[in-house]
Amino acid sequence: AAEFRLEAEDARPAPAARRVRVLLPLPFPEPFDYGAPPGLDLPPGSYVEVPLGPRRVFGVVWGEGDPAAPGAVPDAKLKPVLRRFDLPPMPEVSRRFVDWVAAYTMTPPGNVLRMAVSVSAALEGPRVLTAYGRADGDLPDGFKLSPQRRRILDLLADGPPRPAAELAAEAGCTPAVVRAMADAGVLLPVPLRSGPRFAVPDGALPGPTLSPPQAAAAETLREKVAAGAYSATLLDGVTGSGKTEVYFEAIAAALRAGRQALVLLPEIALSPQSLDRFARRFGARPAEWHSDLPPPLRRNTWRAVASGEVRVVVGARSALFLPYPDLGLIIVDEEHEPAFKQEEGVVYHARDMAVARAHLGRIPIVLVSATPSLETLANAEAGRYGRIDLPDRHGGAELPEVTLIDLRRPDAAPPPRHWLSPVLRDALTETLAAGEQAMLFLNRRGYAPLTLCRACGHRLQCPNCTAWLVEHRLSRRLQCHHCGYTARLPDECPQCGAEGSFVACGPGVERVAEEVTELFPDARVAVLTSDTLLGPRAMQETVERVKAHEIDLLIGTQVMAKGHHFPLLTLVGVVDADLGLSGGDLRAGERTFQLLHQVAGRAGRESRPGRVFLQTHMPDTPVMRALAAHDRDAFLAHEAEARRQTEMPPYGRLAALIVSGEDERTVEQAALRLGRAAPHDRPELTVLGPAPAPLAILRGRHRRRLLLRGPKGLALQPVVADWLAAVEIPAGVRVQVDIDPYSF
Ligand code: ADP
Ligand code: ZN
Repeated sequence: AAEFRLEAEDARPAPAARRVRVLLPLPFPEPFDYGAPPGLDLPPGSYVEVPLGPRRVFGVVWGEGDPAAPGAVPDAKLKPVLRRFDLPPMPEVSRRFVDWVAAYTMTPPGNVLRMAVSVSAALEGPRVLTAYGRADGDLPDGFKLSPQRRRILDLLADGPPRPAAELAAEAGCTPAVVRAMADAGVLLPVPLRSGPRFAVPDGALPGPTLSPPQAAAAETLREKVAAGAYSATLLDGVTGSGKTEVYFEAIAAALRAGRQALVLLPEIALSPQSLDRFARRFGARPAEWHSDLPPPLRRNTWRAVASGEVRVVVGARSALFLPYPDLGLIIVDEEHEPAFKQEEGVVYHARDMAVARAHLGRIPIVLVSATPSLETLANAEAGRYGRIDLPDRHGGAELPEVTLIDLRRPDAAPPPRHWLSPVLRDALTETLAAGEQAMLFLNRRGYAPLTLCRACGHRLQCPNCTAWLVEHRLSRRLQCHHCGYTARLPDECPQCGAEGSFVACGPGVERVAEEVTELFPDARVAVLTSDTLLGPRAMQETVERVKAHEIDLLIGTQVMAKGHHFPLLTLVGVVDADLGLSGGDLRAGERTFQLLHQVAGRAGRESRPGRVFLQTHMPDTPVMRALAAHDRDAFLAHEAEARRQTEMPPYGRLAALIVSGEDERTVEQAALRLGRAAPHDRPELTVLGPAPAPLAILRGRHRRRLLLRGPKGLALQPVVADWLAAVEIPAGVRVQVDIDPYSF
């Protein structure tokens, strides 16, 4: 063999050009080879433009090409790299992370790369833009200072000149408003200067004086940052125990060490308040990253992270894929949140990928929660993660008293077509009379979750999904909460022709608001849901109004469960505590506990004691009992035992295959074929299904699901790969792999 290799090497002509492997942000299984033109230096990580058929696409140099590799394009046919973009190369750890996530999630690496370079515009470099600054002098005669215009002037008073699009995005108006102000001479066009535009957070600013347990926790985290090695730590503490103050100390340590830090938050917790809080602690706002960032800001942020100018990013799950040159710390706040799981495109769990990123980068990661996931607790128990507990609320604030209202009892049941039990009504009356605030929680947007015909019982269903249409009275529309389909409420029933026969069944937040207004006509009521949130600004306004006590009663969905601190809020009522428990999902108990615990945590956060009422038909379930008794650990032990017995995560591993397509019969057949080809011969594996997926029809596609369960120590990816390779999937049918599905 040695002889042969020698011969082969001798026979190989000297390469005419260097070749590089370039990963394209497209669903190919591998990078492609391209030639490196002489004189063009192409270190790994370079962002380049290459030809692909008739197109020019961008990509990233993934390494050296090997002309002797099987199937390699011969030198003569090699297409050249067209140009290299003027950007710092993608760091090695970021490239390894892309490969790792691709392998773990069984996705083509190009799809992961696309998330990492979600801003191809960033490649183009700063275009010549016009920025606008404030013109000095008085406002011209006849120039009316609308609230939008005033906001723009305020923004410019506080910051550097910015392009019209950016100003407009910040002020919540169109760029035309900015340009009109320039035309009127109120704003001054100036050439855009590049330079530091992200204020630098100061790691040397002092935080509050920490309590002894907080100080010990902070010290442990500081040591982990200083060690500059991989470690994972669970920071577990009740709401209000100071977890945020403690992890701020770790960020300060990373900043002092000159390294970057990343805080991952669930998208809805990424509020202006959380950024403001950061700004107060570090003297500068962090860079923000989420899916709704306006493109110019997105581009600038991406570039500033890549150049190292941005020191701290606070972002949603996709912030994990930014090209940090020197990330030194990752915090995952609310680590238990299902929002960290991305269900479309690349299916991944950002918390788990964050742990992998920390491992690859040899840096510490801190997972923060008041109600940690069973996965994280199991890792802590097994010693894979360190653990820090903060058992007490800061300042001695007491946990609220939690009362279960048993709706099965006739005296506790609300009057017909009403949703608030007499006990809860009385508590609301007392709270409002005492000049305090109350919050009613119902995780259901709209007026009613179901609309049916009184005459024939026909239910209005989404034409594209297995879901009822939800009536929204404010917008006077019916809506599907899964695909966004909307329609007017029909005048007559499409089934029996009866006129005006539709009635609303069950409560949504709008309907609860109606009941509350009827009960307390003088109370100032606000509804907070993702419908009423016309962006983060509207949300902030409502939050500010609650804080200023301009609101007495707040009604909302889970958007208001997160992180807000309302000193006068002493009563929380959960209208339907059982809502998340229906359906066959084994995760339902855990999820319901986490959500309701968090909602309950809104009550009585300062000196006034809080009260929580949960309306339930199942007061005897472990979830409800644990919530009432403040016995989280008993509940978790119960859940863990059930999972252990069924070998479900975190005590076993799962992979889901979702088979979907427009034609039900083809989908069914493909699912059955997959079922037959499943690895039945391996006793350590179990295959469940095919069964209808949690949403059996979604956006017009029929969906079946198969679950593969294996023991904890076994990687399921190779099993899934072999399984899929053995089955021919007909055209028009898609099989989506979901490693570690959230619901099971
Ligand atoms: P958690 O993140 O655990 O919910 P926070 O860090 O948000 O807790 O703390 C709850 C509230 O108590 C916040 O307003 C915070 O600023 C305040 N707080 C916590 N610890 C201290 C401290 N040592 N000194 C002053 N205020 C504190
Ligand atoms: Zn739909």
